[in-house]
Amino acid sequence: MDWRAQGLCLREDPDLFFPVGGINSGLAVLQTDEAKAVCRRCPVTRQCLAWAIDVGPVEGIWGCTTEGERRAMRQRSAREPAATVNAA
Ligand code: SF4
Repeated sequence: MDWRAQGLCLREDPDLFFPVGGINSGLAVLQTDEAKAVCRRCPVTRQCLAWAIDVGPVEGIWGCTTEGERRAMRQRSAREPAATVNAA
């Protein structure tokens, strides 16, 4: 079964995973926290995060991370090629 079919976000409002407003806006912070709380309970967080990192820049909360957090992970991985998400 494809990991996407197991994501808990399928039971949530999709808009929750695409916070509105600037990164420091109150609503965006609340939405991000709420979406990450769902991701933390999700059985496929690891697969979701690996996909989101592999696919490149993609908006929204995936695998319990924001795009900014994933960008930082990609940059770290580029500096330290031996470190990968799957090795965590
Ligand atoms: S980790 Fe989060 S975004 Fe990914 S499938 Fe699970 S609930 Fe959805």
